[in-house]
Amino acid sequence: MPLSPTQEQIINSIDNEATSSHWKDWKWQMRNSIRDLDTFETLLNITLSPDQRNVFNETVKKFPMSITPYYLSLINTSDMENDPVFRQSVPSHHELDIMKGDMADPLHEDQDSPAPCVTHRYPDRVLLLVSNTCPMYCRHCTRKRKVGDQDTIPTKTSISKGIDYIRSNPAIRDVLLSGGDPFLLPDDYLDWILEELRKIEHVEIIRIGTRTPVVLPYRITPELVQILRKHQPVWVNTHFNHSREMTQSARNALSMLADGGIPLGNQTVLLSGINDCPRIMKALVHQLVKNRVRPYYLYQCDLSEGLSHFRTPVGKGIEILESLIGHTSGFCVPTYVIDAPGGGGKIPVMPNYLISWSTNKVVLRNYEGVITTYKEPDSYEPTFCDRNCDSCDLLLKLEDADETKAIGIEQLLSDHDQTISLVPASNARHSRRKAEQ
Ligand SMILES: *Cc1c(COP(=O)(O)O)cnc(C)c1O
Repeated sequence: MPLSPTQEQIINSIDNEATSSHWKDWKWQMRNSIRDLDTFETLLNITLSPDQRNVFNETVKKFPMSITPYYLSLINTSDMENDPVFRQSVPSHHELDIMKGDMADPLHEDQDSPAPCVTHRYPDRVLLLVSNTCPMYCRHCTRKRKVGDQDTIPTKTSISKGIDYIRSNPAIRDVLLSGGDPFLLPDDYLDWILEELRKIEHVEIIRIGTRTPVVLPYRITPELVQILRKHQPVWVNTHFNHSREMTQSARNALSMLADGGIPLGNQTVLLSGINDCPRIMKALVHQLVKNRVRPYYLYQCDLSEGLSHFRTPVGKGIEILESLIGHTSGFCVPTYVIDAPGGGGKIPVMPNYLISWSTNKVVLRNYEGVITTYKEPDSYEPTFCDRNCDSCDLLLKLEDADETKAIGIEQLLSDHDQTISLVPASNARHSRRKAEQ
């Protein structure tokens, strides 16, 4: 595929000896990432005002910039300020506005880390941070506190310690490689990590979160796909935020992964001025599924410092879901989640469809606004579960039904656990009881 005129212009200003095969070499893209304002102006053939230059330079002191030549070439210079690619990649002075309630690490990822490189939040899965760098520094990064800190790869020793932690915890069945971007690791290093994880019997699946199909699609090479195939099942989750990012190069990268048998998902962040529009979001999810990518999550923008200008009210996300659910294919609809500050994990949010209910009937409304009823059974024989499958008539016989302890609301609903309430640790009434004893 030939390069676009903008790409020709960029590649020539970087190095007039370079050819389109350099352009399509991910390492060349990385070596020539744009990290300063002068290069940015030269490559796009634009000039910013002294004022704009000043704010830019102030901002990158705190939150650095890095953009691949490829992603830069997608910027529409005729309406730059409103361009979704520009807004996601080029620093804005709004990043220096720290609001009340903003936090450096809202998700408490550093506190919930029991071993190097590991964040362990949920019972059966962990995040393994294997790379400290990204091909493009997203302006809306939730780990903004770390961006540009050290563009290094965590050492084999620290990753090994993380893997040891996973090995010694049989409850972990799902490992998410994240970072930074795991696909910035050299092939053989990634191969080693996957191989070590695959040796652990209780690790059933490995997931990789990467934005390379969006910002560095040439990273998806036949060799990389070959490595992923070797360690199946491996799921890849990528991060498209706007249909403008679905270029022919991005499509090629996704096809290579999908043809290689890698299931693909997408995580979008809801961003003010970029994709906070039901029509933009519908176009995006349709582009994704056409390219065999299942929309997985739509994230409410986190409370990390420097992101206040990107945040929308939660109502915007609900409005977007309202425009998707029922209006388009079910698998086009992502789950809208708020990642709970303090490390509570992802909490799904959606419009209400259950309007009311009585003992044997529920009242629902559909996407068209039709109100309907569902008649429930008059008699229903619940199956009592004490987690002993021998005494149960259902056909699934699990050998060890103790694999995980029920927690949270699941615990309150279960037959086998006698807990009747969950009480916050700081409950004043309960502290008084203790004091009286
Ligand atoms: C998002 C996340 C996961 C994975 O959550 P899923 O809902 O299973 O996709 C696991 N660990 C941490 C720390 C996370 O932030």
